[in-house]
Formats: sequence, structure tokens, C-alpha cells
Amino acid sequence: MKNKLLFILPLFAFFYTESLNAQTMPKDADSNLWQKALKIHRRAIVVDGHNDIPSPMVDEDFNLATDSVGKFHRDGDPFHTDLARFKKSGITGEFFSIYVSGTDYQKGGKMRRSMDMIDATMREVERHPNELTFCQSAAQIRQAKRQNRVCVLMGIEGGYAIENSLFALRNFYRLGVRYMTLTHNVSHDWADAHRDEAKNNGLSDFGKEVVREMNRLGMLVDISHVSDKVMADALDITTAPIIASHSSARGVANHTRNVPDDILKRIAQNGGVVMINFYPAFLDENYNRADNERAARLKPQIDALREQFKDNREGFNEAERKLLAENPIPIPSYTRIVDHIDHIKTVAGIDSVGIGSDYDGVPLLPDGMNGMEDLVLVTYEMLKRGYTETDIRKVLGENFLRAFERAESVARINARKISGEGSLKRIK
Ligand SMILES: [Zn+2]
Repeated sequence: MKNKLLFILPLFAFFYTESLNAQTMPKDADSNLWQKALKIHRRAIVVDGHNDIPSPMVDEDFNLATDSVGKFHRDGDPFHTDLARFKKSGITGEFFSIYVSGTDYQKGGKMRRSMDMIDATMREVERHPNELTFCQSAAQIRQAKRQNRVCVLMGIEGGYAIENSLFALRNFYRLGVRYMTLTHNVSHDWADAHRDEAKNNGLSDFGKEVVREMNRLGMLVDISHVSDKVMADALDITTAPIIASHSSARGVANHTRNVPDDILKRIAQNGGVVMINFYPAFLDENYNRADNERAARLKPQIDALREQFKDNREGFNEAERKLLAENPIPIPSYTRIVDHIDHIKTVAGIDSVGIGSDYDGVPLLPDGMNGMEDLVLVTYEMLKRGYTETDIRKVLGENFLRAFERAESVARINARKISGEGSLKRIK
């Protein structure tokens, strides 16, 4: 039995190595440095803070085993995720986003939508037990690395999901949800969003209770998408490290979705981590401006296409893609991701930065990156800029694991306290 295992293990290692080596090396890359990057990437625990693949899993019946290269979502955006691409990515832990939009949140239905997505995520793990494993703790991520499997974790995107109920929040934790983004793009009853009017001047009293209850449970508080005031309020209240699961640095690209320098400094004090979003509009102001200008310029044509293809969604998507390709704008390189890592390193320190790709949640990725299979490019660029292996491993996953472990220990300390009167409630 023991001999058999010894025989099988190297085969696994060989397969894994081959998968990573199958990456396309950038044309101008130094091949020695590239090989070194592959080795570092392979040894590292890689945690990605945000992947929106559960949305098509529910809406389009997408199975992770389907080859998704060159395929498009129902809304016309290219796929970035599938099982084969996971293998090539070197990712150890991937947060599947249980995303609920803020649209009409007052009407309810957000909890049911979350339940559907949680089930779809768990069913994918059940369907692929050799490749995937469901994880709820930092220790399980480390274990998955040893077993050469991908950890599927869950984070709720949009506090609407709990429908103002701490009862629901606790049940989401029991189902395995390990972070919650307090808002998406719409302000709601207890927290304000980055691009909506402020309804609560940050977090309401109930919103503050949500944060305290998340601390008590060991669910990470996620400040992506929230207003600056909510970021500050969350930092005032939390007793555990917080994360930005998929946000970049405002000091590099001035966008409300990014984290400003004063908050970065506070996150360093808090022990949290800002996980860089790969979306070009968040990485680069020039791209964002050019994209907005192009959208305004092409609006009459796009509206006409929408009318022409009103009963043919795929026809519209294809025509729109063609129109955009005929009107190209420069897309920032993947190296821009590392500009944001550099900035956070300078402002907050190397311990405060991580990876939060937003795969399958964004319409395009930086130039050079087609999907999760190209994640090693970030490692290569860090190595090229002189980052040590220790620092690279921090960015790729160790910083997140440290924050997660600390949040788990805060929860363990709090576990002796039963929920106080305040936490046994809902609003409305
Ligand atoms: Zn998002």
C-alpha cells in the first residue's frame, strides 16, 4: 500500500508541473526568470478573492468541466474559468462569489437567489471530487495544497442577501460562507455603496451590529464596493482583520471602486488585505476614460443594434463585439496589476496586498491575460521587479491566510460569548 502511494504521488506532481508549464511565456520574457517564476508559483499557496462563475452556473447551467476558452457568457463577456484552466492557474483557494445585485432589494428574493447560488457551487464540488474540495477554513486551504486540489470557498457579494436578518447571516455562515461584501453598487438599509447616494452616512447602527456579528462568527468583512465612509466605519468597529476581496489602489487609478491611501494605511494596522482587481477600468484611469468616451460615441449604433437584434441575444452580442473591435482602445498590460501591488507595498506594506481577480465578473482582462490560466504572469512580473519569493508568496496567498486565521481566532475567543440580545434580531 505504502509503495503504491509512493508510485502515485510523483505522477500527480508531474501532471501538476506539466499543467503550469503549458503557460504561454510572454514573447519578451527571460526564459530563466520565467522558469523561476513557474517554480515559485507552483510552490505557493495561491488564493484568489473573487470569481463570479456561480452566476452562469445558475443562469446558464454552466458546468465547470466544460471547456470555456473562447466561449462567451449570455451577456457577451468571455469566460475565464473552467476545470482545466484551474489546473493551469496554480490556484489553491478560489472564492466563488454568491453575488446578489442591489436592484429592487426592498422587494426581497435576495436570500433565495443566494441559496440557489450556494447550492450550484456545492453541486459543482460534488460533481468533481477529484479536482475540487469545499473549504471553510485556512487550515483546509493549506490541506488542499498538500492534496493538490482546488479549494472552493464562498463569499457573499452584496449585504442584501441577509435581508436585514442576523438570523440569516448566521445561517449563511453555517452553510460555509466566509466573507460578505457589505454592499454591491446600491446603498441599502444599513450600508452605503461606492456609487450610490449615502442613505446611512456609512454604516447604520444595525450595519455596525452586522460587522460585530461577522467578527463573532469568523466571517470576514469585505469592503469592496462600499462607500469610503463605510470602509472607515467598518475599520472603527471590527475586532478582526477585514478584506477588500476585489479592489485595487486609488492612488494608482482614481476610481471609487478602489481603496484610498488613508484606508490602505488603516488596513495595514488592522492586519487586513486588499486583493487587487484585474479589471482594466479599475487598473488604469486612461483606459476607463477612453472606454467611457467610446461608449458615449457608439451609443446610437449600439442602441440600433439592440433594436435590430431584440429577439436574438447572441446576434446582438456578436455585432456589439464586432463594433467594439472596429473601434479599439488601448488596453493596459497585465503588468499594471503589479503597479497596484507596488503602490500598496509602498503605502501599507507588503503584508497588506493580495489577489482578487474578479474572473468572470468583468467584461475583459488586461492585455496578455486571457483567463485564470495566465495568473502566473503576475508572479513573473513581481519576480522581474525584484520581489523575493517570500514577498511573492505573501501576495499570492499567505497574506490572505494570515488575515483569515486571525479572524478565525477572534471568532474562537468570542465563541464563549453567546449571541447578545442585540444580535438576535432583524430590522423591519
Ligand atoms: Zn464586484
